[in-house]
Amino acid sequence: MHELSITRNIVSIVAGEAAGRPVKRVHLTIGRLSGVDVAAIAFCFPLVAEGTAVAGAELVVHRVEGRGRCEGCRKELPLDELVGVCPCERREPMAITAGEELLVRSMEL
Ligand SMILES: [Zn+2]
Repeated sequence: MHELSITRNIVSIVAGEAAGRPVKRVHLTIGRLSGVDVAAIAFCFPLVAEGTAVAGAELVVHRVEGRGRCEGCRKELPLDELVGVCPCERREPMAITAGEELLVRSMEL
């Protein structure tokens, strides 16, 4: 399960930064085009955090909407899918400019 290994990475990054201090809250930024199942991360998080400095921490997920830029007309538009085509009918998919993020944004001790 992909989300389990992602959650393990998140917990290990946060636990490393915390250096033994208990963590109250972890903020993640997850883009809507990242392909990551946020519900699965939220499910795995307390299980993976168990027995680490992150145990009992609240998980706060900040979503980022997808955006893409058309290489034809240079317009930037909201993007719901990884492959989007601009209304100007340029055939090539737009370049993704936001929404693929998967980051540990901050943590509260
Ligand atoms: Zn266009």
